[in-house]
This record gives sequence, C-alpha cells and structure tokens, in this order.
Amino acid sequence: MRFYDLIIKKRDSQELTQEEINFMIKEYCEDRIPDYQMSAMMMAIYFQGMNINEIKYLTIAMVNSGKTIDLSSIPGIKVDKHSTGGVGDTTTLALAPIVAAAGVPVAKMSGRGLGHTGGTIDKLESIEGFQTELSLNEFIDIVKKVGVSIIGPTLDLAPADKKLYSLRDVTGTVNSIPLIVSSIMSKKLAAGTNAIILDVTSGSGAFIPEYKDALKLGQIMVGIGLELGKETVAIISNMDEPLGFAIGNSLEIKEAIEVLQNRGPEDLRELCLVLGAHMLKLGGIIKHYEEGKSKLEKILKDGTALDKFREMVTAQGGKPEIIDNPELLPLAKHSIKIKADVGGYIQKIDSRLVGESAMLLGSGREKKESKIDLSVGIILKKKVGNKVNINEDLAEVYYNDSQKMKDAKKKLLSSFIIGDEKTKKLPLILATISKEGVKEFI
Ligand code: URA
Ligand code: CA
Repeated sequence: MRFYDLIIKKRDSQELTQEEINFMIKEYCEDRIPDYQMSAMMMAIYFQGMNINEIKYLTIAMVNSGKTIDLSSIPGIKVDKHSTGGVGDTTTLALAPIVAAAGVPVAKMSGRGLGHTGGTIDKLESIEGFQTELSLNEFIDIVKKVGVSIIGPTLDLAPADKKLYSLRDVTGTVNSIPLIVSSIMSKKLAAGTNAIILDVTSGSGAFIPEYKDALKLGQIMVGIGLELGKETVAIISNMDEPLGFAIGNSLEIKEAIEVLQNRGPEDLRELCLVLGAHMLKLGGIIKHYEEGKSKLEKILKDGTALDKFREMVTAQGGKPEIIDNPELLPLAKHSIKIKADVGGYIQKIDSRLVGESAMLLGSGREKKESKIDLSVGIILKKKVGNKVNINEDLAEVYYNDSQKMKDAKKKLLSSFIIGDEKTKKLPLILATISKEGVKEFI
C-alpha cells in the first residue's frame, strides 16, 4: 500500500477502507508518513468529508494508537463529560463535584487551553499546590476515596490525536466534522468510562459556529459512541456569548466556587444542572431527567457539592483555604473598567473576540511552550439582553502589562454589539441528542 494513492483516492472523493485507514494511522504514528503528505490528506478530508464508516474506522484506529484506561476497579457507572470548546467555560470545575456529591463517580481527564478557548487543567493550576499530573493508580485511588478527580492529559491516550491535532492546528484543518469527531471520541473511548455526555457548543465562540453543523457534529458523535458500545448523550449549547461573567484562569476558579456555593451566574449554573442531570441518568442513579435536576439543586443548596470540591482539592495537594478565601487565588496587579461609548441593549457579545482578548492579556498560550499568566482575565458586567447607558461599565479587565491591556481593551470593546432594540435571545440549550433521537428547543 502506498500512502500517495490514498491521498489521491480521498482527493477524488472515494471511500477509504478500514485497512487503508489503519495503515494511515499506524504509519503516521511510527513516522513513516511525513507531515507534508498527512497535511494533504487532512485537507482532502476537510474538503471531501468522510462517511460514517470511515469516521468510525478512523476513531478506532486512533484509540488503538495508544493504551486504554481500565477504570473497572472503581465501583459504579463512570460518566465522562466533554465540551467541544467554549469561552469562559468553567463548567467541568463546578459540574464534577456536584455530580460526585450525588453519587456518580467522576474520573475526568481534561485538557489545556486550545486557541481562543481556556483549558480546565490550566485553571486548576491557579490553586496553589494542586497536582494535575497523577499516576493512574493515584488517580483511581482518589476517585475511589473522594468520588472525583480531575487530571491532565498525562496518560498519553490516543497519541495519534496529539500528533494529528498539532498538524491540523497549523494547516487550517481543525474545523472539519470527521476530524473533530475522531479526535474527541478516540480520547473519550480510550479514557475507560462507561458513558459520555458531550457539550457541543455552537455560536461565535465555537469551533463549529453554525447551529445546523453543530447538530450534525453531535449526531455523528452520539452515533459513533453508541456503535462502539458507550452510552452517549449530547447537548447543543449556545456559545453566542461567553459562559458566566469570568474569562481567565483564576477568575474562573472563583466563579466555579460561586456556583458550588449555590450562587454564581445563571447560565453557568443552568448548564451544570442540565449536564449533571444527564450524568445522573447515565450513571443509573435516577430514572427521569427532571428528578436529576431537583436532586442537584438540593446538593448545591445543602453545601455537599462545595464539600466535595474541597475534598478533591485537598486530595490533589491543593490549598483548600482558597475556597473560603478566594482572595488567596492569584489576581493581577491592575484592573481597568471598559465603558460603553453608546447606550442601548447588548445584542451580542462575540465569544471568540472575548476569548482572544483574554489571550492577549496572557491567559492562554501563543506558542506551545509559552507560559501563561493565571492571574489575568476579564469580568463581564453585562450580558446579551441587558440595557446599558452611555459610559456605563461593560467589563473589567485584570492585567499585569499595560501594553497588553491596551490591545485587549480594543478587541474587547469590539466584541460588544449594542443597538436600540432588545433582540431575541436564544435559549442556552438548543438541542439534546440521545439514542432516543433529537429534541430541538429552537
Ligand atoms: N477538541 C478536540 O479535542 N479535538 C478537536 O478536533 C476539536 C476540539
Ligand atoms: Ca465563565
């Protein structure tokens, strides 16, 4: 078999066989296919797409490029959660302890920031002492003892994805449905949980912005998950404005704690309750989705979710004092308020631009090896649908470098669209996809 022939085949819109896809992944991982040929293949897939069988074979080949985690020693049905990427998306940090407090074990492997989106692992590292690199045994022990643990991508699952993702990142081939499905599902399948809940984001801050395309992405991921033996549910959520008010690593830890204290932003809380209710149902501890939501509301109210977070932080070496004293978290030296230059209604807050503004402040990596500033970020003072007067605050920017602040401020201001009319706001949850089919809410 020659890889050159496979590139031509895909370029000409023909279907690749399982044998050919296995060859491609194996040879690429073992450095017998050069990056320039794989780049051509990724671009051919970007334009010609893949059918459902090809996507399935690609996903399986990527799972088989590395090891698969065995979580069977942890009692109960383990449910994983994954988001396709959001801005200000603090969900995992609040959700994992809430679900664990309800009795579903959460063994979660999370990532670092990607492009204009932040990463759970970077956020957790703003808690002094918190260890995100544990051995598999330490990880499993904490889940057994505490019920929840979150670690970084240290166990080297689906190494083919790591290699392919870096290539896609620099060749304009990230936003391709077959490539996103195989990238995400291979990691989820290798992570060894029994079930998966997917938060597929749609809107300006998402990798796949159009709702119709996001729905298709969700349907394919659920189909692949089910076919490969994992109960999988997806929701499509609206990322037409950032989630919550805080964007930036330590600021988002503080926001997650607020949710666990039964306060915090309405949208972030709602997303946690929706995803959490699905996780309890997948975890087999409730029968009906509505039951899950009220159970989680109770857990937030009586403080057990916050206690669970405290236990997890302590078990992973972090300073639990930050929970009652969030001023112990790193905070930038300076802050400045961004004010509206016209009055009206907030019609849109472009999440991508807000995410990029936070990156300019230093909250994310410019290059793989860049060091991030955990203390900087943005607190929104207005959300879509709010009224704003001229000179009223739109946001507060926390910064350490005034040149970076100036660049970020300009971009942040351009992310707000203010108009005379109050526009209709989309619901936070746009659709749910499960083995029972698709339920749309718009
Ligand atoms: N997140 C991933 O892990 N992979 C993608 O391809 C896109 C988002
Ligand atoms: Ca947020």
